[in-house]
Amino acid sequence: MLDNQSKIQKIIENSLREQESQRRDFSLFGKWFYIKEHFLAPINISRTLEELEEKIPAHLFEEIDEFFVGDFDFLTDKGLEAQYKDGAVYISNSIVSELDLVENIIHEVSHSLETRYGHVIYGDQKLAREFLLKRNSLRSKLKQEGYDISEYDFENLEYDEDFDFFLYEAVGYAQLNNLVVGIMPSAYAATSLREYWSVGFEDYFVGDREYLKRVSPILFSKVEEVITDEY
Ligand SMILES: [Zn+2]
Repeated sequence: MLDNQSKIQKIIENSLREQESQRRDFSLFGKWFYIKEHFLAPINISRTLEELEEKIPAHLFEEIDEFFVGDFDFLTDKGLEAQYKDGAVYISNSIVSELDLVENIIHEVSHSLETRYGHVIYGDQKLAREFLLKRNSLRSKLKQEGYDISEYDFENLEYDEDFDFFLYEAVGYAQLNNLVVGIMPSAYAATSLREYWSVGFEDYFVGDREYLKRVSPILFSKVEEVITDEY
């Protein structure tokens, strides 16, 4: 049996937890972080946002005005967990963990920086050249493994739905992650040049930074160039 004081303590704790799970307004680097629909998984939002503020320099959030969490059709329809558009980051309320939330936010931050830093990231074509060399190695590997790759253009830098579907469905990310070891930071990096950039940025903060540097030196140096620009 709990004594009265412990009982009261329990009631207060439960009520605080309840309040936290119902809370809709948060902030990340002073930007509005609004919960339109609550996360389906138990995610401690304030703790996660505090961790993010410790992990990433504040100036990298300059291009983002606000964050929205919800059940957004445009995300579900494309099978996306998050998307940056028109100065806002939209996050699906179906993401499964705090780490997932951190990774998605960092990933979208990288996309938000592409316009402002386009000249740094893409201007000298070095990143594109590195990406194409890797696509070429991947092409050989897939061929070796017996996949029919004749219909796909491995030199296309842009996102292509058929190519994405081939990687995601025909090969599968579990298998693809094995095949890209030593070639790319991860399977998703093979999607397009822009996703190559984003995976590098993400891995720099929450992945294996040393591996990134070893496997994709140009990508690594582009990430460093962007994040150390203090303007
Ligand atoms: Zn992306």
